[in-house]
Amino acid sequence: MDKAGVDYFHLDVMDGHYVPNITFGFPVIKSLRPLTKKPFDVHLMIEPVDPYLEQFAEIGADIINFHPEATKHPHRTLQKIRSMGKKAGLALNPTTPTSVLDHVMDLVDQVIIMTINPGFSGQAFIPLFDKMRDVRARIDASGRAIDLQIDGGVSDKTAPQCIAAGANILVTASYLTAQGRENYPSAIQTLKGA
Ligand code: ZN
Repeated sequence: MDKAGVDYFHLDVMDGHYVPNITFGFPVIKSLRPLTKKPFDVHLMIEPVDPYLEQFAEIGADIINFHPEATKHPHRTLQKIRSMGKKAGLALNPTTPTSVLDHVMDLVDQVIIMTINPGFSGQAFIPLFDKMRDVRARIDASGRAIDLQIDGGVSDKTAPQCIAAGANILVTASYLTAQGRENYPSAIQTLKGA
């Protein structure tokens, strides 16, 4: 994937508590870190969040994203991530209202709109285009260079609609792996072409 042209590695950390699945944690990320120079975009689907932030920063996370429902004080969590010199992202579940962004636009570097429910890869895309346009308008109004990332069900079919609705970063998992390794470069170019 690195050689095929991905820009980031988006690493989904799940704890079997905040979401109904378990993936991986510190040792796996630490072992992956020397294998690529690309940024590690770590998506924490864990609760609580704060006790683990320093360790994720130490093992090589460049961007740390969390769900506002998974921490009692999202503003403080954003501050803590940025105080470690890392970029901070808020991940919004399909039903999380965009109003959670109201008082933190000066502290977020990225907003993730989840277009599946967090927990499992390969679920059907939820067409939250109004939500994407809402967040894009908030970003434009803020005047800050905040990324709008779409996570869940991104494919050659859904990518152009996401970009048209204001997204600038697309996460892909099952769409890419289904193409087969030899087709990764063309699949990645297809998404970038959107
Ligand atoms: Zn994710």
